[in-house]
Amino acid sequence: MSGIEIHNLYFTYPGADSPSLRGVDLRVKAGEFLSLIGPSGCGKSTLLRLLAGLAAPDSGTLTCGGVPVTGPGPDRGVVFQSPALFPWLTVRDNVAFAIRKAMRSLSRREAAERAEAVLVRVGLQDALKAYPARLSGGMAQRAAIARALAMGGSTLLLDEPFSALDPKNRLSLQELLLRLWEEDRKTVLFVTHDMDEAILLGDHIAFMEPGRIAVRHSVGFPRPRRRETLLVSAPCCTLRRELIALFYQWGEAAEVNP
Ligand code: ADP
Ligand code: MG
Repeated sequence: MSGIEIHNLYFTYPGADSPSLRGVDLRVKAGEFLSLIGPSGCGKSTLLRLLAGLAAPDSGTLTCGGVPVTGPGPDRGVVFQSPALFPWLTVRDNVAFAIRKAMRSLSRREAAERAEAVLVRVGLQDALKAYPARLSGGMAQRAAIARALAMGGSTLLLDEPFSALDPKNRLSLQELLLRLWEEDRKTVLFVTHDMDEAILLGDHIAFMEPGRIAVRHSVGFPRPRRRETLLVSAPCCTLRRELIALFYQWGEAAEVNP
């Protein structure tokens, strides 16, 4: 089973003078967790939108699980910074709705049962009947992760999913994603601005310069990973310094904390 394969990808926004993606090459093996970082505006979200099938490339190839991406599909669960839940549906019905859209043969009851099971996995068992307006930011993002998982696909695409959360929620959602990934081993592309988050979660870190992937680092730290020990270890500090140097090179030093 193959993961994500991207080769020589170009993409230009309608009306733009120059392409936002200029020859992106990237491979994420099946079951691998890749963190994608890079300065603002380098094209991380654009790349993720193309993988999600929300836009089509000018040229190049893009396959997921060996299948060319031609549009959105249940094989790829997507989580954005904003959870985008339907406000008129309960948490359970939000997830069940997405399940039924992806798997039309399921009955309402089967979809609801499946939704409940995945909501239990993300710790929302007490909020099944809550409406999104009643949820904290962390809970809403848990629901969005549940929705992406519930599709049952082999790939998860996440675009800065924790950036809008307060530090406590951010840490517990990182732990949750780490646990879910260790249980399921889905292929994950995780876009983040936070180097420690990238290091804690990823098997590899790809650094994107404007329009293309510049460097790829292996994060060979053993799992399960514990934040308290990993992030202060000497190899982690070395890797962090290398990443900071890349941000300096691309003019975004002000946004990182050495
Ligand atoms: P990142 O997620 O890395 O911050 P984006 O993928 O959002 O970067 O943006 C990459 C480039 O594409 C930027 O130069 C940005 O200005 C441009 N861009 C993003 N969205 C649009 C759009 N809807 N129309 C035109 N240009 C866009
Ligand atoms: Mg972005």
